[in-house]
Amino acid sequence: MGNADRATAASERLFAEACAVIPGGVNSPVRAFAAVGGTPRFIAEAQGCWLTDADGNRYVDLVCSWGPMILGHAHPAVVEAVRTAVGTGLSFGAPTRGETELVTEIIARVPAVDKVRLVNSGTEATMSALRLARGFTGRAKVIKFSGCYHGHVDALLADAGSGVATLALPSSPGVTGATAADTIVLPYNDIAAVRGAFAEFGDQIAAVITEASPGNMGVVPPAPGFNAELRAITAQYGALLIIDEVMTGFRVSSSGWYGIDPVDADLFTFGKVISGGLPAAAFGGRAEVMDRLAPLGPVYQAGTLSGNPVATAAGLATLRAADADVYTALDKNADRLTAMLAEALTSAGVPHQIPRAGNMFSVFFADQPVTDFAAARASETWRFPAFFHALLDAGVYLPCSAFEAWFVSAALTDEAFERIASALPAAARAAATTGEPKS
Ligand SMILES: *Cc1c(COP(=O)(O)O)cnc(C)c1O
Repeated sequence: MGNADRATAASERLFAEACAVIPGGVNSPVRAFAAVGGTPRFIAEAQGCWLTDADGNRYVDLVCSWGPMILGHAHPAVVEAVRTAVGTGLSFGAPTRGETELVTEIIARVPAVDKVRLVNSGTEATMSALRLARGFTGRAKVIKFSGCYHGHVDALLADAGSGVATLALPSSPGVTGATAADTIVLPYNDIAAVRGAFAEFGDQIAAVITEASPGNMGVVPPAPGFNAELRAITAQYGALLIIDEVMTGFRVSSSGWYGIDPVDADLFTFGKVISGGLPAAAFGGRAEVMDRLAPLGPVYQAGTLSGNPVATAAGLATLRAADADVYTALDKNADRLTAMLAEALTSAGVPHQIPRAGNMFSVFFADQPVTDFAAARASETWRFPAFFHALLDAGVYLPCSAFEAWFVSAALTDEAFERIASALPAAARAAATTGEPKS
């Protein structure tokens, strides 16, 4: 199906209605298509690797709800678990057995984690981990890396990836100077910069927080040994290491990035996959640190809907279904897709890099490897809108920003790959021939 066949009238009408009552028409900024132009597709339903929009167009889904849907949409085991949970009540504000089961599954997969607390979003997980690190150490400062995104936590928005990068916002109004002053932002993959910051502020730094393998400035994996070096330096200065696995956790391997690059952080954050697509996330780590949380300790953290039985059931069913075959399929699908992308872009003569972090990858229009946010921003992102829309018009739904990772599911079919294969040559040519904007 070419461009002309794809009606968008229903999405356009729904977007106009949404824009009248929701800022920008969306409940999370990247969804608005700001970086690529055009009307966001309103999704009506999804099955397996296929999305259907409000106009009845079908798309191969390479976004997977920005990560969670590793099994594909409406997986029977997950739907069944959610149905069962819904039938026995939606929320009690009291403990349930499912919470212990989900947490036990997380701990079994990540041996560095002794205890876990469930929350409702990745943002809440990193915010809580940061408060706990500050409470535990009695220190105020935190180091984050440029281009890493840890949710919209005030202290972590500085030089953040994801939508902050897509919209080219230097920082956010509403974050006070005092909050920002306790955040030290360093270039990613620059261990000398970390040593320098600790040499200057070592006794004031509560924690270093880093994405396990960054996926919010595009995919920019850590240099070999980078996370281990962060572990060594933080330990030397009595600061905590927080590894944010919200995106990579239980996606890139059965143990997340920890399964690829096992570094024992003090605290880990999880989200996306462990939610099964409902609002749930978690943070966990060493018992000595986690036991500082209320009610055992003085660091307060709470949530009316935390550990919600329906979300917990969806997450648990997802993890239980995510067996070795699923991770093999995810890796194979990423291999197949990245090979197709490389071939199409090479044939069209477009400079490109397709960095991988397990089965996560992204496409940079650049002729040198991208190792930090500065290099990601220096890539030819102006090629992206033409590439994106050529694929979208041909029924391939990819992330609507050059700074986002692509997400495969285990549910991708040969039919889906054939659709992508037939769409890629024209998309690559569009990326090759689109004009560089005059600045
Ligand atoms: C998505 C993401 C978050 C934020 O999670 P939300 O559920 O969107 O609040 C935090 N950290 C990383 C690495 C993420 O990819």
